[in-house]
Amino acid sequence: MDHDRARELFTAYHDEELSSSEVEELESHLAACKECSEEWDTYRRTMEEISGLHRFAAPGGMTEAVEQKIKRRSKGRFFGEQRSFSTQFAIVSFILILLFMLAYLLMTEVTEITVLEEDDPITDGKTPTAQERDAGAR
Ligand SMILES: [Zn+2]
Repeated sequence: MDHDRARELFTAYHDEELSSSEVEELESHLAACKECSEEWDTYRRTMEEISGLHRFAAPGGMTEAVEQKIKRRSKGRFFGEQRSFSTQFAIVSFILILLFMLAYLLMTEVTEITVLEEDDPITDGKTPTAQERDAGAR
């Protein structure tokens, strides 16, 4: 078994979907290959983090739906899954930035409106023109 083949099996191995002979082959490769066993540790930790995040953020069936979509899109390959995880992170960051910008725009707009509304009654209430006209007439 070569490195690429071993890493292709990570998803199925993680989900316990490998045949016993495949498990045997993969485990003997992981025992012999430091690179791949480190890769496997990273994969397992990443999967734990992802499912931890989903458990925290998403209710019920959504976790399974997202995990299945990741699995389907990546066709079981580790690096595809890692990329889609960072893509998800990028999308979330982008949405947060948009929300902050929107909130900022709304806040500045609201302050401008408040300033305008406060300004108008003050200038109307003073109406110094009538007094000035009176003073001028006398
Ligand atoms: Zn290897």
